Amino acid sequence: MPSSQKQPDPRPLPQRADVVIVGGGIVGAASAFFLARRGLSVLLLEKGEIGGEQSGRNWGWVRRMGRDPREIPLARRALHLWPRLKEEYGIDTGFVPCGILYLCRTPRDLRARLRWFERHAGEAGSDIRLLTEKKTAALLPGLSRPVAGAVYAPRDGRAEPERATRAFAKAAEKTGARIREKCAVLALSRTTGRIDGVITEHGEVRAESVVLAAGVWSRILLERLNTTLPQLGVINSVATLSVAGDVPQTSLGAGAYAFRRRHDGTFIFAHGRISETVFTVQHIRFFRHFLPALKDEFANLRPRLASPFQPWAHSTYPGDISPEPFTHFRVLNPAPSLRILNKALKEAKADFPAFANARMLKAHAGVIDVLPDAVPVIDAPDATPGLVIATGFSGHGFGLGPATGELVAALVTNDEPRVDPTPFRLARLGSGGRI
Ligand SMILES: Cc1cc2nc3c(=O)[nH]c(=O)nc-3n(C[C@H](O)[C@H](O)[C@H](O)COP(=O)(O)OP(=O)(O)OC[C@H]3O[C@@H](n4cnc5c(N)ncnc54)[C@H](O)[C@@H]3O)c2cc1C
Repeated sequence: MPSSQKQPDPRPLPQRADVVIVGGGIVGAASAFFLARRGLSVLLLEKGEIGGEQSGRNWGWVRRMGRDPREIPLARRALHLWPRLKEEYGIDTGFVPCGILYLCRTPRDLRARLRWFERHAGEAGSDIRLLTEKKTAALLPGLSRPVAGAVYAPRDGRAEPERATRAFAKAAEKTGARIREKCAVLALSRTTGRIDGVITEHGEVRAESVVLAAGVWSRILLERLNTTLPQLGVINSVATLSVAGDVPQTSLGAGAYAFRRRHDGTFIFAHGRISETVFTVQHIRFFRHFLPALKDEFANLRPRLASPFQPWAHSTYPGDISPEPFTHFRVLNPAPSLRILNKALKEAKADFPAFANARMLKAHAGVIDVLPDAVPVIDAPDATPGLVIATGFSGHGFGLGPATGELVAALVTNDEPRVDPTPFRLARLGSGGRI
């Protein structure tokens, strides 16, 4: 997880670029790389540091399994790219095709996984298969409790979040993109209906196109353009564990806990389902948008008692160019919930005795940018020429990162995309005007 206290970049801000990208997460960095490869002049602006928020804090799972059917083509394309990034472009992400396994403790768990498997596994990949109890046990050394079975995707994998995001940014720079950290975009500028640049804390930059890849902050910048994005923040806590003994090589999600190996032999560990939310004014505003999702996810959400004035929930208005909250909160760094992590650890110990001696080396948390249908917006809306939006990955955008960068580049240059962007349109959320 990034933690450096960087000084402001002394280099002057370029006055123009073909494309300005707002946000240096995996989506902004991968977009910068693929756009620079097309020969465009690219400027990426990041208010804090590259990979400082979700993209440097996530579990590092790269999966097709369990995806919303709208995301499957993008997830397949991403899985095609991940193993090739190092060899073809020198982008060292730490990707390992370690497999991902969803462990089903009870027949009920198995039935729930079966619903996705029967409908979508065929499209997601022919390697994805259902495992009997016996085959599950054979694949999981150290498993000490009986289970009903599992769903297993042997070609899914893991990568190192911070390393991968920085590697994309480095490769983009090598290809000619310019990157400025500690440079917050305060608003996008629009002249005669077209987005033609950005206003930053260090001055204005003109551009033919602007890519908005600002994670959970995207709503604020869109609102300053008079466009509504029903986006909320959810907190997920993660521990880094040192574990000795028999623990599977594959990444494993068991509902009550989830883990994957890191490149250095430690483990990224979390609760498999539970996240927290701090109630804010945006929850009241967007209540009706999120109601259907809440019905499914309510049991997995815990309220966190904290100030309702969360930076990502900042209220703003069209035309506002005040630096708040971007320059006051360079990197979102919520406290992790040790209670949730310890609860998850108890369950993991019951399944894998090796976890009984696990040491928690550190813990952190990240704010996930959720949309009502948990599918991102990746769109060049007709109503706003010059703008491409890529946001709202709802807790699973890291794995999609490389393919999203490629798709964003195609949307900017108006080339034929490899993946159909239609399911990711902003208009599906009924947005585009104030509510
Ligand atoms: C704990 C956790 C676990 C997760 N696990 C997984 C997983 O295993 N697999 C998976 O696929 N996904 C996972 N995700 C989700 C994944 O991390 C995100 O979907 C993905 O990283 C989103 O990337 P992004 O570039 O869109 O956003 P971010 O990484 O959030 O980047 C947005 C960037 O924009 C910058 N920014 C915002 N406003 C401005 C501004 N005004 N000016 C300049 N810069 C600005 C921010 O500082 C930030 O760096 C997880 C997320 C979390 C938090």
